[in-house]
Amino acid sequence: MLQDQSSTDQLCPCQSGKPFNFCCGPAINGSRPAKTAEALMRSRYSAFSVGAIDYLVDSTAPENRREEDHELLMEQTQITNWIELKILSTKDGLATDSTGEVTFEASFESPEGDGLLRETSRFRKDNDRWFYVDGDLELIAK
Ligand SMILES: [Zn+2]
Repeated sequence: MLQDQSSTDQLCPCQSGKPFNFCCGPAINGSRPAKTAEALMRSRYSAFSVGAIDYLVDSTAPENRREEDHELLMEQTQITNWIELKILSTKDGLATDSTGEVTFEASFESPEGDGLLRETSRFRKDNDRWFYVDGDLELIAK
């Protein structure tokens, strides 16, 4: 699923300071699903960085998946370079919760300009797996 296998030895793109294999890697390759909403959010950020499109689609709540997602995500991950992730706040979303919210800022570079995405994402847990439901987002040009 990963485009670049060497990335598994490197520090995780989510900037936890941990190697990818001990951070978002297991969630993305399916061996150990994210336990909290924040972990899922981080793994999705990392999936954007490494181009793990299937994971991005699979970790979206089924009712919010659209057929064109795969293509759009493919395009987006190819042109966007994610630079920095900052978690601003979290609400619920722990292993014992069934819903949660994570507010974060992510900086990126793209051919259309550099910017900052600020989003409050909503997450839901179904059968012990966290899913991204939707979010309120704001794009700020740099
Ligand atoms: Zn990570």
